[in-house]
Amino acid sequence: MERLKVYGAPWCPDCRQAKKFLGEHRVPYDWTDIDQDAEGLRIVQERQNGGRTIPMVVFPDDSILLEPSNDELATKLGLTLQAEREVYDLAIVGGGPAGLAAAIYAAREGIDAVVIDKSSLGGQAGVTERIDNYPGFPDGVGGADLAERFVTQAQRYGVELLSAVSVATIEPDDGHVAITLGTGQQIEATAAIVATGSTYRRMGVPGEDDLIGAGLHFCATCDGPFYKGAHELLVVGGGNSGLEEGLFLAQFADRIRIVQRGPALTASQLLQDKVRAHPKFEIHTNVEVVEVIGAGGKLTEVVGRDRATGEELRWRPEAAFIFIGLDPNTGFLDGSIDTDEWGFLRTGDDFQTTVPGVFAAGDVRAGSTKQLGSAVGEGIAALLQVRAYLQHHHEMRTLSINT
Ligand SMILES: Cc1cc2nc3c(=O)[nH]c(=O)nc-3n(C[C@H](O)[C@H](O)[C@H](O)COP(=O)(O)OP(=O)(O)OC[C@H]3O[C@@H](n4cnc5c(N)ncnc54)[C@H](O)[C@@H]3O)c2cc1C
Repeated sequence: MERLKVYGAPWCPDCRQAKKFLGEHRVPYDWTDIDQDAEGLRIVQERQNGGRTIPMVVFPDDSILLEPSNDELATKLGLTLQAEREVYDLAIVGGGPAGLAAAIYAAREGIDAVVIDKSSLGGQAGVTERIDNYPGFPDGVGGADLAERFVTQAQRYGVELLSAVSVATIEPDDGHVAITLGTGQQIEATAAIVATGSTYRRMGVPGEDDLIGAGLHFCATCDGPFYKGAHELLVVGGGNSGLEEGLFLAQFADRIRIVQRGPALTASQLLQDKVRAHPKFEIHTNVEVVEVIGAGGKLTEVVGRDRATGEELRWRPEAAFIFIGLDPNTGFLDGSIDTDEWGFLRTGDDFQTTVPGVFAAGDVRAGSTKQLGSAVGEGIAALLQVRAYLQHHHEMRTLSINT
C-alpha cells in the first residue's frame, strides 16, 4: 500500500486516534508534527485555504480528510471490517465508557456480546486530555490511558470489539433486534444497548461552517495550544464546560472573554468564583453570538448581540471556543425510538427504551448526567437489566417450545 501523510501535533487527541487506527490496521504513513515543521504547517494551511484543522490525512491520490473518524478512514481505505458472527445475545452499540462497562459485565455474566463503535473504542473519554474526577485515580488519569484500560479489561474477558464500523439501523424483528452495520452487514441480537454518547453542538450562525478548525474550535485541550501568546480568546457558553475550558485557555492568552446567551452563568458556584476572581476573564451574559467573520481562512471577528438592548458587539479574538452543549448521537435511529425534546433516548427505570429489548445507557440517555463515572455506572446497570431480560426471553421461548 502506498504511504499516507498525516499532519498533526503531539498534543492533539484526534491525531493520536488516527495514528493508532492506521497502526492497528498496518496502514503505512508518514507523520509530520506541524508544531516542529514549518513546511508541514504551510502545507496544512495551503490545503485548507488558511485553516489548520488536524489531523489532516493526505492519501496517495492527493485527496485529503480532515479530522476523520475511524469509520471515514476505513471507508476511504477500503478496509472491510466485519462482525465475526451474525447472531449474538447482545449487541452493544457504542464503545465508550458506558458500552465498554456493559461489555465487561456481559462477559463476566456469560452473555455473548459484541461491541460496535463507529470510531475508536473509548468514546469521549479516549479523546479527553486528563480526567480528574474519576474515582480511583487520586492524581487524575489521561483519557486515552483510561480508555485503553477499559478496552484491555474487556479484551481480557474475550468480548468481540469492532471499531470503525457504524451501526446504521436498529429495528425490532420478531422478538429479536435486527441491526444493520454501515458496511451493510446484518446481525441479529436478542437485546441491544445503545450507548452512542453525544457530540458538541454548533451555534448555527453565519460563517460558522467555514471557520471550524480555522479559529472556531470545540476542544480547548486539543486546539488551545495553537494560540499560545494570543491577545484574546473567546469562549461561547457559561456552563461548566465553558468555564473549565476557559480556565485552561487562560494559560495561552492575555484575555478570555466568556459570552453566555442566558441571563446568568450556569456553571457550578466553585467555577464561577474562580473565573470571577481571575484577572484575565471578562464575562458577558444575555449576549448571543450572531455571526462569525473570517478572512484568508482565519477567524477575524465575532459579532454578538445584547439580547436585552439589541446593541451589537464586535470582538476580534484570535479564536473562539464553543461549549454550548451536546447533541445525542441518535440520528441513525431516525425517530424509531422515543426521545426527549433534545433527541436523548427515553428509558424506563429498567433502562429499556420504547422498543422492547433495546436498552440505552450513558450520555445518550435522557436524564443522564453526562459524566464518565455515571456513564460507566449506567452501562453496568443497563447490562444487569439486560441479563434479566435475556433470562425472561429464554424462559418464554423454552415454554413456547415445550407447549
Ligand atoms: C473534552 C471532554 C472532556 C471531558 N472531561 C470529563 C471529565 O473530566 N470528567 C467526566 O466525568 N466526564 C468528562 N467528559 C464526559 C465523559 O467523557 C462522557 O460523559 C462519557 O464519555 C460518556 O460515555 P458514553 O459511553 O455514554 O458516550 P461516549 O463516550 O460519547 O461514547 C459513545 C461512543 O459511541 C460511538 N457511536 C456513536 N454513534 C455510533 C453509531 N451510529 N454506531 C456505532 N457507534 C457509534 C462513538 O464513536 C463513541 O465511541 C468529558 C468529555 C469531553 C468530550
